[in-house]
Formats: sequence, structure tokens, C-alpha cells
Amino acid sequence: MVGMGSWCFHMTLKYEMQLLDELPMIYSCCIFVYCMFECFKMKNSVNYHLLFILVLFSLIVTTVYLKVKEPVFHQVIRHLQKRAKCCLFNSMASPRVMYGMLVFTLVLRSIYIVTWVYPWLRGLGYTSLGIFLMGFLLWNIDNIFCDSLRNFRKKVPPVIGVATQFHAWWHILTGLGSYLHILFSLYTRTLYLRYRPKVKFLFGIWPVILFEPLRKH
Ligand SMILES: [Zn+2]
Repeated sequence: MVGMGSWCFHMTLKYEMQLLDELPMIYSCCIFVYCMFECFKMKNSVNYHLLFILVLFSLIVTTVYLKVKEPVFHQVIRHLQKRAKCCLFNSMASPRVMYGMLVFTLVLRSIYIVTWVYPWLRGLGYTSLGIFLMGFLLWNIDNIFCDSLRNFRKKVPPVIGVATQFHAWWHILTGLGSYLHILFSLYTRTLYLRYRPKVKFLFGIWPVILFEPLRKH
């Protein structure tokens, strides 16, 4: 879903398509948060409190996204900003910051797991976080230095120019980082359930997880 939405947004650069790109990112991130916080629970257990919080969070972000284009909403925000006299409210209401909050929660939880529960998963955990944060850094560089990067591309050969398309790198690296983080999450859960997970490298480079169902004695 994220892929399809993202594709539509990058082709059209329309606000409606941006919703299809970014809202699924928020929803899938909420699912990741649920998985990472529930990975040491019994099979078939449901945490209704956490579910409620995450669904509420998704609804708030969706509302902010849908309302942000309406002038009345802008006026309300400006009014509140004037009263609060700081940019905190503004940044809290930004969907990107809300996405950042989810990612930050995932980072903290992953660090907790590799520090206190499964230290031997440090390699996988930190590689996924490192790749993801590297992508995030490049995305910011691209946003901040967009104009100078464009000028730079005009002067250098296309091969070097392509390599400075940091927005593209952001997509590649977040995709890879998310994939590795899903592996990390799967590994943690299946290990907890005693499924004997193993990381295998397809064609020697692409990591996948293999596990055996629990044998009944
Ligand atoms: Zn993009």
C-alpha cells in the first residue's frame, strides 16, 4: 500500500496522493509499534489498551491530514499558536512529526530489546536502525539544500548528479531499513515462541528468516 501510494504521489505531486503515500506509512508504523511492544506476550493475547491508543493516534493523524487544507483549520491553528507563543503546537500538529514520534518509539524499543533481552540480535537491530536513520539524514539534507544540490547537478556529469538524488536514496534506504526491522521483529517474536529462527542469505546477500514450527513432545 505504501509503495502504490508513494508511486502515485511521486508521479502527480498532488496533495491527495501525498495522503496515500504518508497515511499508510503512519498506519503500518502503528502496526510495527504494536508488534514490537507485544513480542514477549503469550500466543493469542490481545492488548486492548495499546490497540485503542494506536487506533486513536491514527485517527488523529488522519484528521489532521484531511483538515490541514481547510482554511478554518489553519485559522484555529494560528490562533492557538499566538496564544501558546511557541512553535511546539505547530510541530505537534504536523503529521511528519507524528510519524517521527512513532519511529522514535520503535528505535527506543529496539534498543531496549538488543540491550536487555537478546544482545546477540545487536547486529541486525543496529543495522536496520542505522540504514533507516541514514536515509532520514539524506532526506533532510535533500530538503534543506535542494537548491544548491540542483545547481551542483547542472555542473557535474550525470553519473555523479544521479548519486546526489538524496530523495531517491531516502526511499531506497528506508525501504531496506524497514525490511530489516521487520526481520528483527519476526526474529524476536519467533525466538520468544521457541520456533528456532535462523537468518539465511538468499544468493549470499539478501537476508531472510527461516524457522521451524514448535515440535510437540
Ligand atoms: Zn518521496
